[in-house]
Amino acid sequence: MNKENDYLEFDEEDFLNTYGDKIKQYIKTNLSSNFIKNNIFEFDIEDFLSNYPEICEINDIIIENPTKVEGAIFYIFKEAYMELFGEDNKIKKELEKIQIAFKRPLGCEKKIDEISSSDINKLVKFEGNIIKAAKVCALLKKACFVCRNCGNIQYKTIHNYFTFPKMLCNNKNCGAEMSLDLDSSTYINIQELEIQQPIDLMKNPDDPPRSIRVFLENSEGIYSGRVDVVGTVMKKFTKPNMPVFEIYVKSNRIKLNESFQKIEVRDIINNYDLMETLNELGKKKNIVDILSQYLIPQIKGYELVKKAIFLQQIKGCTKFLPDGSQLRKDSHILLITDPGIGKSTMLRRIARLYPQNAYASVTTATGGGLTANVVRESTEIGDGWVVKPGVFVRANEGTACIDELTVDRNVMKFILEAMESQTIHVNKGGINVKLPAKCAVLAACNPKRGRFDPNLGVIEQINVPTPLLSRFDLIFPLKDLPDRKRDEEIAEHILNTHIETATKDYNILGSVEIDGINVDENLIKNYIIYSRTCAYLENNHSLFMGEVDETKLKNPYLTKSAKKLIKNYYVNMRKLGEGDNPIPVTARQLEAAIRISEMHAKARLSKKVEEKDAKVAVDIIEECLNQVAYDPETGKYDIGKAMGQLPKSKVDKMDKMIDIIRELSALSDNGLASEEDIIEKASEYNISDKEAEDLLEKLKKSAEIYSPKFGYYKVS
Ligand SMILES: [Zn+2]
Repeated sequence: MNKENDYLEFDEEDFLNTYGDKIKQYIKTNLSSNFIKNNIFEFDIEDFLSNYPEICEINDIIIENPTKVEGAIFYIFKEAYMELFGEDNKIKKELEKIQIAFKRPLGCEKKIDEISSSDINKLVKFEGNIIKAAKVCALLKKACFVCRNCGNIQYKTIHNYFTFPKMLCNNKNCGAEMSLDLDSSTYINIQELEIQQPIDLMKNPDDPPRSIRVFLENSEGIYSGRVDVVGTVMKKFTKPNMPVFEIYVKSNRIKLNESFQKIEVRDIINNYDLMETLNELGKKKNIVDILSQYLIPQIKGYELVKKAIFLQQIKGCTKFLPDGSQLRKDSHILLITDPGIGKSTMLRRIARLYPQNAYASVTTATGGGLTANVVRESTEIGDGWVVKPGVFVRANEGTACIDELTVDRNVMKFILEAMESQTIHVNKGGINVKLPAKCAVLAACNPKRGRFDPNLGVIEQINVPTPLLSRFDLIFPLKDLPDRKRDEEIAEHILNTHIETATKDYNILGSVEIDGINVDENLIKNYIIYSRTCAYLENNHSLFMGEVDETKLKNPYLTKSAKKLIKNYYVNMRKLGEGDNPIPVTARQLEAAIRISEMHAKARLSKKVEEKDAKVAVDIIEECLNQVAYDPETGKYDIGKAMGQLPKSKVDKMDKMIDIIRELSALSDNGLASEEDIIEKASEYNISDKEAEDLLEKLKKSAEIYSPKFGYYKVS
């Protein structure tokens, strides 16, 4: 060992003499207010130091010798516990199950790719995404040894899993090899995980991300999410007789970072200047217009579509039903884009906005890759079955950007389940868990026939089953209309993108100036996080400082005037559908309107949802209906058309055709109606020759009529 580090060489007796009393006092104070959860006593280093700043070197001692200090603190813990609660045999036995976990060590933060052999046997703290999780097994933690020779009993805590525990009798005159008493030993849960460095913590996001194997002691079973890990770096021989090691981490404290975005919120709250700037931005008129334009620069026009995508990032309000289930706060959006619009670039851009956003293309992703896979792989412990969370799970609390939605119909049932329940249920290989997938979906596809045709229903143009289509709040076709100015801009943009890709400069968004405030990519990210969660700070401040309980979050509320506007819109649209008319909207659009109004209110940092928010929501929905549900033949909205049924006007015409065929065949000698007569008769009802031919074709396909003789028809 290095001379300078000599003071860090660990001497347990010395440690107990120097720090024992203070640690015992600290544990006692904590035991009276905290209870032990899951057999773990969390030793909060940062909190301890704030009580005893004069012995701050203890932090370094722990980092250098975590396993040994753990043993010493466990010894102090047992004494403290028994002094408080007595020392009968039952307590003594229960105490043996307790483990000390270090929480909030200072100065040992690492990135996964920085953990190296120099960290072996030291404490490290890092952040990562669970990419693989095996099932929970039992670990022999405190081995009970019995001496067959003299009857002596000894306990040994297992720190290294890769050598089977052995012990020699410590009885002076004995020294025999002891045998393990499995029944009297203590066991804890253990789970093997693989944790990967998040892209936002990589120097170059295009490098393959590194991962590390973690053994989590006392695990209740964790299968997905971004986590904070505090653990000891350990080594394992890769081959016998070769002094080469594999590095892994042993931890008894992994904290699910569902709060990942909340940590960012905390960063904002702790930065007064930043918060001022964000508040200032929120006051600007048209802030939503400016920021949505800024976020998606490569698409010209389509202002409402861009606004919808920007608002999707902000998310609606968190609301719980009386039974505790949560209402969906996400708006799912489908873009049907003509080739040349640059949908993939746009989706990737949105995916890169936040670490919890994810991108996948259905051309390469499987159903399991999108949701979750349970596969058999080589693991150190367990039977090899592991869960690998997919894109929707990785995008929990973010946005899943799904490209080329329509290329593989097989994966659509997976997507449907994810969008519907926002959870992924896996049940295979003895692993039965529900993984959270609370994400917004931003999907894109090309129309079947190359270009979007406003005269046809959406479902005729893309290969998406109706149930899946109806999960989207908003469907927008993005048409590639020739426009010289726009073409020039796109050419410019594509050229720039190539330069950026070549130079690895991903700050493609550049910056925009709003009344003296320079908005760049970083600021817009902060603005979205801020408006998503902490614009109502006065009400929620204390929540964000501690652990966040979502059920207690206060949200902007719907004002009377906003409610009235949405209600009127809905009622008026429904009225259009009375009698013979097509149904223009359903309750789904109503829910979508409320969600989008909330997003818009949050986007301008308002504490209430006002009439103007509702107005934007209605505008966005109307834009969507205009594009996909407007039937140009009748000048009416028809949600049935959007969702795959034929427009009402067309259905009426088909009915008329059937009447004509029925009538003509009744009048003819052979009981059949000739095509010539049908078309002539149809023209009396303003059905053109061409259309009549089309309709005959459609009716024949749907088997409503048949043709027993060429050029003649009969109703089935
Ligand atoms: Zn013995």
